[in-house]
Formats: sequence, C-alpha cells, structure tokens
Amino acid sequence: MALAYTPLDDITKIHAELKAGFQTGKTKSLAYRKYQLLQLGYLIKDNAKRFEEALAQDLGRHAFESYFLEVNASLSEILECYKSVDAWAKPDKPAFNVNFVFMKPTTYKVPKGVVLVISPFNYPMWLIATPLAGAIAAGNAVVIKPSESCPATAALWTELLPKYLDSSLISIVNGAIPETTRLLELPWGHVLYTGSGRVGRIVARAAANTLTPVSLELGGKSPVFIDPDCDFKFAAKRLLWGKFTNAGQTCVAPDYVFVTKGSQDAFIEALKLTYESFYPETTGPSPKPPQNVTKMVNAQAFTRVNGLLQNSKGTVVCGGQTDEVQRFIAPTIVRDVKLDDSLMSEEIFGPLLPIVPVDNLDEAIAYVNAHDHPLALYVFTQNEVFKKKVFENTLSGSAVANETIIIPGVPGLPFGGIGASGSGYHTGKYGFDMFTHFRASMDTPGWIDKILGFRFPPYTDQSVAT
Ligand code: NAD
Repeated sequence: MALAYTPLDDITKIHAELKAGFQTGKTKSLAYRKYQLLQLGYLIKDNAKRFEEALAQDLGRHAFESYFLEVNASLSEILECYKSVDAWAKPDKPAFNVNFVFMKPTTYKVPKGVVLVISPFNYPMWLIATPLAGAIAAGNAVVIKPSESCPATAALWTELLPKYLDSSLISIVNGAIPETTRLLELPWGHVLYTGSGRVGRIVARAAANTLTPVSLELGGKSPVFIDPDCDFKFAAKRLLWGKFTNAGQTCVAPDYVFVTKGSQDAFIEALKLTYESFYPETTGPSPKPPQNVTKMVNAQAFTRVNGLLQNSKGTVVCGGQTDEVQRFIAPTIVRDVKLDDSLMSEEIFGPLLPIVPVDNLDEAIAYVNAHDHPLALYVFTQNEVFKKKVFENTLSGSAVANETIIIPGVPGLPFGGIGASGSGYHTGKYGFDMFTHFRASMDTPGWIDKILGFRFPPYTDQSVAT
C-alpha cells in the first residue's frame, strides 16, 4: 500500500501550528488531557479489527499476536495513564527541612511543549499508542512519525488521529529519511526515538544542534542463560514463544542462548518437543513449514536475516526454510553456534535462535560483560544462587527470570536500555515523567531576612563562619 509522505515544506508549518495550539494553554487542564486519553482509547477500541488487518498487511502477522501484544497492551497503557494522571501531575513537596520550609519549596509538573515521537516498524501500533498516551497525560502537543516500513498501519493512524484527537495538538508526519531529517532540524520539547542504535546516533547528533532532550529506546543482543538443572520443558516453552513471536522482530526478544556443553543435547530435545507442539504442521507424514508466523517486514530485512542464517556454521535442528517472495523465514533453532558465528555478529531481529554451548556460567557472563549492555537479559532457573550470580554480575536494561518479552507491558516497571541499548525510560509513570519538566519553585516571605539577612553584602570578618 502506498503511503502519502508529508511534503517537506509542511513540516515546519505543522510544528508551528502545534506550538500555537500548545500556547493556548488547553493542555493545562487535566480534564482535557483525560478526554484526549479517553478518545485515544476509543480510537483503538473502535478500530481494533482494522489495526489487526493493517498489521497483517504490513507484517503478515496473525490477528491474535496483534491483539495480544499491540491492541490489548495499548489499551492497558492508555487506561493506566487515564487513571493515574491526576496523581502523577500533583505538585511534589520535598522532605521537611527547617531552613527552607517557610519558602514553600514545591516541584511542579509542567509539560515540555511540543514533543516528537519517532517509531520503529516492529510494533507500529503499541510504540505509537504508548508514548502518545504518556505525552498527552503530561500535557504536551505531539508529532508522531510512524515507520514507513509499515505503510498500512501508518495510513490507518493518519486517518484516525484527526477523527478522534485534537488536531491542533496532535499531528502526524509520514515519510522516511528526508522527512525525519527535516523534523530533527526543529527544536522540540523532547524527542523519543525508538529504533536501531545506528539511527539513534543520527538522532542524538541532530538533537544536539537544537539542544533538544532525547530518549533513545534501542535494541541489542539480549542473552539467555539456561541453568543445566532447570526445568527444560518449562524454559523451552517460554523461550520459543518469546523468540518467535512477531518473527523475532521484538526489541527484547531473546537473541541467543547459553547452555553448558554437557546439557545442550537434553535442552535441544526439550526445544524440539516444544517446537513440534507450537507448529504441529511440521511433523507427521507430510510435514510443512510452520504456518501462521509473522513475516520479515521487507526485502532488506529478509536478505539480512537470511544472510545471517546461510553464513552460520551452526547446525539447524528445527526450521531453516525460507521463501524470498513471501519474505518468510521459518522459526529456526541452530545448535553448536560458536561465539564468532554470523549469528553472534549483530542483533538478529529475526526468527533464528542460536544455542551457544559454553564450558560454564562464568564464561557466559564474561562474554556478556565484554559486549554492549543488552536491552534485556533472561535466566531460566529454579535456583536463587544461579539467578543472583547472573543478575549481580551483569548490567542490562532489564533482568528477567523464567519469562520472556512481556516485561515492557508490566504496569509500574520502567522500560529502557542502558548504554548502547538506550537511555531514558518510558511506559506508565516513567513515560509521563519523560515528557514532563520538573519545575522547582519557591516563594520566600519578606520576614525570612530577619533570619537570613546575614547573607547580604557588605561582608565583614564576622560573616565568615568559624
Ligand atoms: P530504524 O532505526 O531503521 O527506524 C526507526 C525510525 O527511524 C523510522 O521511523 C525511520 O523512518 C527513522 N529513520 C531511519 N533512518 C533514518 C535516518 N537516517 N535519519 C533519521 N531517521 C531515520 O529501526 P527499525 O528497523 O524500524 O526498528 C528496529 C530496531 O528498533 C531494532 O534495533 C530494535 O531492537 C529497536 N527497537 C527498540 C525498542 C525499545 O523500546 N528499546 C522497541 C522496538 C524496537
């Protein structure tokens, strides 16, 4: 589907219109923000089926995956913002301090102004709805820049946003590099960029020119540590689900798995059984490749991920089928992957699961610590000591035991990376705070000078504390 890109000359105009809209002061009203949040909720609720269809068109994704991970997760996020905005927006008082209490020190939560949200392709609904909800709750005007790689979903947002939300405060710019570059030439209250580290660097450099604050939600290789004594069946089920959902195109997808050399065979057996239960069509007298799986988003992504697979020296134990025309890569498990393999060279962002045998846990921890901090890190273990050893000796955006990928959707937890996996946090209150300026304020009564008058010149020797 062709997506109409926003003419470059309109971009500065859109920015100016939103600035004027913001300056009317409409968003100061919490009732107004809540109304917009409610409308955003209805936008999604009324059009859930259309979003699922658009996502199927863009990503070849099954409706259930879109419902569970995008529609449902977006509605929960919007509801949380709606229910909590009154509490989040309340001014804060610092802890009691006898020296300053009469100056009424207060932190006011004020919107940053007109903010920009640049989204990636992989969850093109949730990664617009969630930051949009946070920005609205915080009282900002917002420009959304969807990924051009999901044109049907971007076109649906473009149609629906002005129908449900106040266009003088919420607008959308469609396009690719030239349009995003033009957006980044403008000063913003804040830019939230979600996507690759390569483009994250471009965004951060551009924002430096206008001194725009930036949050970067990036990716990376999220490792999995398997305790040789853990319940393999249980681990295999959650691991394969987290990896193969959305064809591995999930920022927190398990990227590769460490097992000990002695436990690899038994773990692979558990993975095979789970694989066959997830994709029964792959077994029996006339086996077929897995059906109902999400496709690579475009030809470029297919070529990149297929290249990683074809160049791997590991052994494929499940999957491995590809179809360039359909942009299909079967969920694939590769065993005996070495640390210098193609599958270990970059974030896979596709349905390939390398199993990397190591001598022991120390070797696995040392490998992770010698590379960029991952966005997520997973352990499967029923042993507190094993879990603590991994968590306490590594650093990552999040650290999860016995689960995969759902952590960004857990209310109340921050979602963000560290170092090369990003900076800043969004979702829930963290999203509200990201789009909020914490304005320190005080109001000092005249009589304070009876106590603090000693601060004024002229200074004398008596002014100096001894
Ligand atoms: P991408 O960086 O290619 O594109 C993201 C956005 O940047 C798009 O809107 C695109 O138009 C824009 N863009 C692309 N090139 C640009 C340029 N040269 N100048 C300015 N703008 C440009 O990312 P993607 O392929 O859509 O997403 C995949 C990446 O996103 C993965 O690395 C994944 O891990 C990461 N990701 C991170 C999170 C998170 O929350 N941390 C969530 C989802 C995806």
